[in-house]
Amino acid sequence: MNKTSIYGLTLEQLAAWLLAHGHKRFRATQVWDWLYRKRVTDFAAMTDVHKECLQLLEEHYAIQTLNEHLKQESADGTIKFLFKLQDGNLIETVLMRHKYGLSVCVTTQVGCNIGCSFCASGLLAKSRDLTSGEIVGQIMKAQQHLDNAGQDERVSHVVVMGIGEPFDNFDNMVDFLEVIKDHKGLAIGARHITVSTSGLADKIVAFTDANLQVNLAVSLHAPNDELRTRIMKINRAIPIDRLMKSIDYYLEKANRRITLEYILLKDVNDRKEHALELAELIGDRRQLATVNLIPYNPVDEHSQYQRSEQQSVSAFYDVLKKQGINCSVRLEHGTDIDAACGQLRSKQIREA
Ligand code: SF4
Repeated sequence: MNKTSIYGLTLEQLAAWLLAHGHKRFRATQVWDWLYRKRVTDFAAMTDVHKECLQLLEEHYAIQTLNEHLKQESADGTIKFLFKLQDGNLIETVLMRHKYGLSVCVTTQVGCNIGCSFCASGLLAKSRDLTSGEIVGQIMKAQQHLDNAGQDERVSHVVVMGIGEPFDNFDNMVDFLEVIKDHKGLAIGARHITVSTSGLADKIVAFTDANLQVNLAVSLHAPNDELRTRIMKINRAIPIDRLMKSIDYYLEKANRRITLEYILLKDVNDRKEHALELAELIGDRRQLATVNLIPYNPVDEHSQYQRSEQQSVSAFYDVLKKQGINCSVRLEHGTDIDAACGQLRSKQIREA
């Protein structure tokens, strides 16, 4: 029988569970120390935890439920993992090296129902949400890869930008964030964590109210409804006006900056007039917004889209800058290893 991963429990949830099963709350801190500091993957290794307590945990929980199915390493140090879940589904996780540290991009769902027209993952409909333990498990696998390399390196940053819409798996995503932020566990700083959404307005409001202090990125990709609906069908249900209202709620209440993601597709949304329209849409929010321009990574599945010319990328950037908009162009990682979201997984499924 498949067991759920203990990684999915926050420290408080584990303490409450142990208490309800006749054990002292402090056992939870002990167990966490073994899980996240010493990073053992076997309950039997937790030598200072009472035997009965370990037996109980073993009966109800597994530690790691992900198995490494494939690993690709890029020349720039990016590592792409393909993990097999207990039910046989495959998910992707990417570990990237930056000047500022090591970041992991996690997946939150098996497949995705949002159906962005440029995305390789969107072709595979969602079959289920990942549990919080399966999401934490991806960070632990990446960290264990680093531990095995023996360089004393730590995952310092996390981006929730892999396959799936994290806000469509809201509760598990929140538990995941609580676990990885906790200073008694992995202690990844909230300001080093970014959650990216396709723009589920109600969930942006709920995320703001949850006051998690982590960064928010919203995939905008177009400056008007007509174009955005063509690129992202979610815009039919949640048009830009509604999305911007939820962003305003976030900016006002969380008092934090926001990143607006904009993927540049040749001759679709990459002209100067689109940049001007985008600047106008951002308007007074410019003090708190940064536009992240993402040159499109072509995928076989979407031959209708090409990568914008370098000249168009620069011109788009210049227009935004002239309009007083903070913006940057995303650096690419692992272009030699199917690094675009969902590419490795869809390739494996096709070849199976
Ligand atoms: S870009 Fe993200 S939200 Fe859109 S279809 Fe792909 S995985 Fe889903």
